[in-house]
Amino acid sequence: MGIMLSGIGVSRGVVVGQAVRVDRGHPIIEATRIGPKEVPRELGRLDDGRDRLVADLEKARRRLAQQDAPGIEELVSLIGVQIGFLGNSRLMRMSRTHIEEGLMSAPAAVSASMAQIEEVYAKMTDPYLAARFEDIDALGGRLLDIMLDRDGAIGQLPEHAVLVAHEITPADTAWLEPGQVAAIAAETGGLQGHVAILARALAIPAVLGVHGLLEQVETGDQILVDGAGQVVVQPDADQQAKGKAAAMAFSERLERLRANADEPAYSLDQVYYNLQANIELPQEVPRAVNWGANGIGLLRTEFLFLERRNSPSEEEQTEILSSIVKQLGGRPVTIRTLDVGGEKVLPGYGELDQDAENPALGLRAIRLSLRNEEPFRAQIRAILRASRHGPVRLLFPMVATMLEITHLRGLVEEERARLVDEGLDIAMPPLGIMIEVPAAALSADLLAKHVEFLSLGTNDLTQYTLAIDRTNEKVAHLYDHLNPAVLRLVQFSVAAAERAGIPITICGEMAGDPSLTRLLMGLGLTEFSMVPRSLPEVKEQICQSNRSQLMAEVAMLMAEGNREAIAGFVGNNELGLNGTNKS
Ligand code: PEP
Ligand code: MG
Repeated sequence: MGIMLSGIGVSRGVVVGQAVRVDRGHPIIEATRIGPKEVPRELGRLDDGRDRLVADLEKARRRLAQQDAPGIEELVSLIGVQIGFLGNSRLMRMSRTHIEEGLMSAPAAVSASMAQIEEVYAKMTDPYLAARFEDIDALGGRLLDIMLDRDGAIGQLPEHAVLVAHEITPADTAWLEPGQVAAIAAETGGLQGHVAILARALAIPAVLGVHGLLEQVETGDQILVDGAGQVVVQPDADQQAKGKAAAMAFSERLERLRANADEPAYSLDQVYYNLQANIELPQEVPRAVNWGANGIGLLRTEFLFLERRNSPSEEEQTEILSSIVKQLGGRPVTIRTLDVGGEKVLPGYGELDQDAENPALGLRAIRLSLRNEEPFRAQIRAILRASRHGPVRLLFPMVATMLEITHLRGLVEEERARLVDEGLDIAMPPLGIMIEVPAAALSADLLAKHVEFLSLGTNDLTQYTLAIDRTNEKVAHLYDHLNPAVLRLVQFSVAAAERAGIPITICGEMAGDPSLTRLLMGLGLTEFSMVPRSLPEVKEQICQSNRSQLMAEVAMLMAEGNREAIAGFVGNNELGLNGTNKS
């Protein structure tokens, strides 16, 4: 029997292969002193190392750009960002200063800069920004490898290697020949990191967050990685045979699902289901379409504002949003206005409330936007302008009251009138609100009369209903979509939308979990928006189910209100969404 370890399954598939440890750990290079005369030589060494690194990245980018895999554009653009970063990054600037003023050798200067940058990132409370250190760290490590002529483990992989590491970074993936790495297992990382996204995009099975992994594995060990969340070190013959059979079944199933991507989703009793995609980046559009999305059910616009010094101009936003709308070639796009606040820092975006004790209950989403009206109006105008290129719906996050709706509608009407006065032909788009605050769910029947559509944000609805911070690991085990209180709010909102005669889409993570599809169908939902890759599996569930039968079964379960019975129905007795949540 091999050693079984579990972690977070972030990219599905089963592989039995040979482990290759990536032992990074950048050694602290002693700050060898150099004489002032050696400064130009060391500066040259730094620039030369950077140039070789950029050349490597360029090569990887070209190679990847030729691949035809969903999501590959995202990886290609990520490498582009890394190339840009090496131009005049803090890492390069600090390293130069260390050479010139601290009289350090180039490797020592890079090592010292890395340590300083790490200190800055360690203090960041925003997990998204804190995670960016991984990327910088990997680039710095690779720069050191190049300057010191070290060939890391990644340089000499055997075929079908399973990479095993404390941490795999997106920069690491740039060196990999596609097809050469069969699977990834790492001690750190989670569902949302870039590695997870890239592993999914490249269809490399991956399990992250495997505690104690490196204590158990040596390079050359046989290892089985099951992307559902299991790693087996030195599997015995029986485990290997089962792993290989599962790998075969998985790839056959994937092929079959992919072949059906363009088929519409009908339940057995011929009810049509509208399946759309949630995207966070423009590069995801082709992937969404490839996986069979009928449109974008949730475009999170945070990407326009993050990682920059100031807010994007109205023109810039218009251009990016318009290009997304155009790319969709007539499929509808639901664009949600900015949803940030609390601890997320947006430099140059007016008033923020970073020190609030309960940021999730503070100046977040629409509350923040209404407090900073000028940039908000600019975003609305950009969305209105983009709506000239295709069907656009305008969605507001975290709305709780009727007053907010009235106010928001007034703002949109004013901005539209302004654009019309400028000679633009812009119709009023359908306006909708996220139902993600219990107050909104409980008054969904009242609010529904004043909007054209509703979007169920079950990620936040669960957090606010159960008073469980969705980003707090200590209470993650209590974050439970199946709690009857959450499901009652879903049920009530669906009924409210139906009575008002408006559509309701579920766009929280629940929508993309195929184990919950039957439950959601039974609650009456017919519009789902989810991460693109979940589309085929959710569709498969729909096509194999009978809606009216599910509605009758779920009505009984809901009347009973027994969580365990509901969990039994979905075949998932764990709390929460496969024990994980998404922030
Ligand atoms: C939600 O809360 O369910 C949702 C879709 O919004 P976000 O995850 O962006 O907060
Ligand atoms: Mg939300």
